Amino acid sequence: MSENASGNERRCILCGEPIPDWMISFEGIRQGIYVCENCIATAFDVLKEQETGSPKQEKRGREEEPPVIPTPSELKAHLDRYVIGQERAKRILSVSVYNHYKRIFRKNALDPHVEIDKSNILLLGPSGSGKTLLARTLAKKLNVPFAIADATTVTEAGYVGDDVENILLRLIQNADGDILRAQKGIIFIDEIDKIARKSENRSITRDVSGEGVQQALLKIIEGTLSDVPPGGGRKHPYQEMLKIDTTDILFICGGAFVGLDKLIAERTSRRTIGFGEISGGKKPSLSELYEQIHPDDLVKFGLIPELIGRLPITVGLDELDKEALVKIITEPDNSILKQFSEMLKLDDAELRFEPEAVEAAADIALKQKTGARGIRSIFEKLMNDVMFELPDIPGKKTVLVTKESLTGGKKPEIIKK
Ligand code: ADP
Repeated sequence: MSENASGNERRCILCGEPIPDWMISFEGIRQGIYVCENCIATAFDVLKEQETGSPKQEKRGREEEPPVIPTPSELKAHLDRYVIGQERAKRILSVSVYNHYKRIFRKNALDPHVEIDKSNILLLGPSGSGKTLLARTLAKKLNVPFAIADATTVTEAGYVGDDVENILLRLIQNADGDILRAQKGIIFIDEIDKIARKSENRSITRDVSGEGVQQALLKIIEGTLSDVPPGGGRKHPYQEMLKIDTTDILFICGGAFVGLDKLIAERTSRRTIGFGEISGGKKPSLSELYEQIHPDDLVKFGLIPELIGRLPITVGLDELDKEALVKIITEPDNSILKQFSEMLKLDDAELRFEPEAVEAAADIALKQKTGARGIRSIFEKLMNDVMFELPDIPGKKTVLVTKESLTGGKKPEIIKK
């Protein structure tokens, strides 16, 4: 251990630790006062953070080490664990999301003269086909904050309703107030098709609500420095605002776009390359049809061209058929069957669900025409009585669910072991 001029051990005035010979340190103006290398490094970090840090905010975010970005195949493999079918969508999304985060987190490795634009994503698919699930699952895997917004609740400034800034507030809240983290998050905007302009020709019908909301969304989607009221609600003067830069936020917009498939089908069948060529004579699936989408189709549907331009990646999802619904009930890591089995285990019961019962549940969901969305409520209804009684029955039990439990009004049976 080194000693100072008076023969005493040198210690850091800040952390109090002894300073070994090999360590960088410096002596203060007052003799005998030293600062060690570790504290110099910490002070340097603080200075650097002050220089590059964000403006005064509720909670200043930490610039984290660039994370390891999962490769497209890793992202796809993760999606496969939770999302059934939708193969095209999973592949395209995996690549797009990988590219987005590569662009953000590896900025320093890129040629500064080549500015790479952000590519936001438009998901087209029937309700309950997995659009939100895909976006949420990706955000979870990437460990980035995630927020969902419903385009129909957003209004343009000056009207009663939700300002677009409230969507950003939700993201900030989901990032625990860490604005730097929120700036790299994902926002899913659902029902984007419901704010379509009612008429393609702007001059004939000025559809204020649809177009105004699209303009408001466009601003945050294309990248802007936004002022967000920390408490939510409307902005008002003299209020201190949170500042958030939306440039690196990935926006995934989703919508059912009912009727758009027919528009594309009409256009493609008019040309020489019709359905026949797309899928070897078969009627094309929705996702195949959406591969043929042209920006004009979306303009015809009522989206403004500027917004379409900011959503260059379009991905179509397929309607879920019975086979897919059966798989959704049984296969994903957190499938509804696995969830209920786990719940019953806590009451010492084993869930035995006959395959025909799964099929019957899929049939009911199919009839409801809400994709996989209705599955949970079908199960909740089915199991409610059993879950009422089970905790009062001592010992090990089996709960048997047959087809009749779903079709014939026969309750699932509790069998004591
Ligand atoms: P959308 O956003 O397309 O309307 P969601 O993603 O919200 O549909 O789906 C509703 C629920 O249905 C999900 O939480 C999930 O449980 C289930 N689900 C929908 N599609 C799938 C799918 N392809 N694979 C697995 N589960 C699905």
